[in-house]
Amino acid sequence: MKSLVLFIIFITNSLLVSAQIFDVDTLLFSGNSEKRINLVVLSEGYQPDELGEFITHATSFKNSMFSQSPFLEYINYFNVFAIKIPSNESGADHPATATDVNESEITPTFVDTYFNATFDAFGYHRYIYYGIDYTDAASTEVKINSVLADNFPTYDQALILVNTTEYGGTGGKFPIASISSYDIAIHELGHSLFNLKDEYFLPDIYYAEAINMTQETNTSLIKWKNWIGTNGVDINPYGSSGVSATWYKPRHLQCKMELLNKPFCAVCKEGIIEKIHDLISPIDSYTPENITINTPSFPLDFQLNLIKTIPNSLESIWILNANNIDNNVDNISIEETDLKTGTNTLTAVINDATTSLRVDNHETLHVYTVTWSINYSTLGIETIVSDVNSFNMSVFPNPTNDVINFTLENTLDTPLKLEIISMDGKTIQSYNVTNSENLQIDMNTWSQGIYLAKVYANNDLIANKRIVKN
Ligand SMILES: [Zn+2]
Repeated sequence: MKSLVLFIIFITNSLLVSAQIFDVDTLLFSGNSEKRINLVVLSEGYQPDELGEFITHATSFKNSMFSQSPFLEYINYFNVFAIKIPSNESGADHPATATDVNESEITPTFVDTYFNATFDAFGYHRYIYYGIDYTDAASTEVKINSVLADNFPTYDQALILVNTTEYGGTGGKFPIASISSYDIAIHELGHSLFNLKDEYFLPDIYYAEAINMTQETNTSLIKWKNWIGTNGVDINPYGSSGVSATWYKPRHLQCKMELLNKPFCAVCKEGIIEKIHDLISPIDSYTPENITINTPSFPLDFQLNLIKTIPNSLESIWILNANNIDNNVDNISIEETDLKTGTNTLTAVINDATTSLRVDNHETLHVYTVTWSINYSTLGIETIVSDVNSFNMSVFPNPTNDVINFTLENTLDTPLKLEIISMDGKTIQSYNVTNSENLQIDMNTWSQGIYLAKVYANNDLIANKRIVKN
């Protein structure tokens, strides 16, 4: 669920300043901001009479982002806002202190801007940052935090757009990008919001295990093993010698994390979608919530309002008292004859069946449920009580010939049951699993082949996962 919402109060002796309130424009509104990723664009290096132009630039950035996969498909999961912060002068500093290029031809320029954006950060010509180094950036970070706290405290991710057509950007907590190409801002968001690494040659200190970077070269163990051979994904070294030659990426010269104006590679795209699912449930709302009924009228109607992907890849399974009664519909009607005396349980299980996720080999599976408890007696319906739950399930390593780990987490602390079924339909093992327990199953003595792991919450089947014994 949403974990990025930051409520920040930075008050340090001399930095105590009164709230500065700026105009906030809405560039994209998909719905309830509690149920969306709220991206906030901050202006930098725009004078008061240039703030209209800033909105034009921020809108073009938003249009560019949501014309590209996977944002195109998941646009309904985002809201985008722009905060109009005036600077005294236009553009960004260019101190001509980079050491990676010859800056002798460049005249150092310094302008008075709100967040003090500067090129040549960390000695790199094309790094634009809100400080020349981390020490310098610290005071600007206080300023960024207070602008957000005063103007949009429930943001999930902020992005600083700098009014210069010179190429430059950096990722980090607050990604910052020039307007020379809106793909720079999208690339930097790849770092900041989605934890993706660059796929171009890097200084040694920047290499680390990540969604799209690894030192694993075994095709059956590598994190993107499911994609190898599809969409051009294979195992490509970052460099030809030294440290860079020991690190690998999914594509060569074909991913936006390496080159602008390329799409995200399949591995990065999957990482982005996984993060969207981590942050946002596809259940926007549902009816009824909790009601007491005096004079029930049948049929009873149950409605899901889902945050649809485009084209819609959300699937739903409807289960009444452990019987699957319908699939892939947003509402159902229950007749009196469908109910038994006592408590009836109606569950809608929702998951995203997009082909951009290869969950089979992917680490985490996200499943969301709405459960209604319908209390029915000979006098009729008395109450309907509802609950939403979201499940994160990790199964790793898969395939394996040894011990396999299952971690099943859910927000309601519902006890879960895991059943392992062989391909001929026999139940091999059954386990009761407490919330967040890491269940380890020793598969050593099992025969090689494919098994099905079935996960039940309150006797409702909520997920099927294929596991492979080597
Ligand atoms: Zn990539």
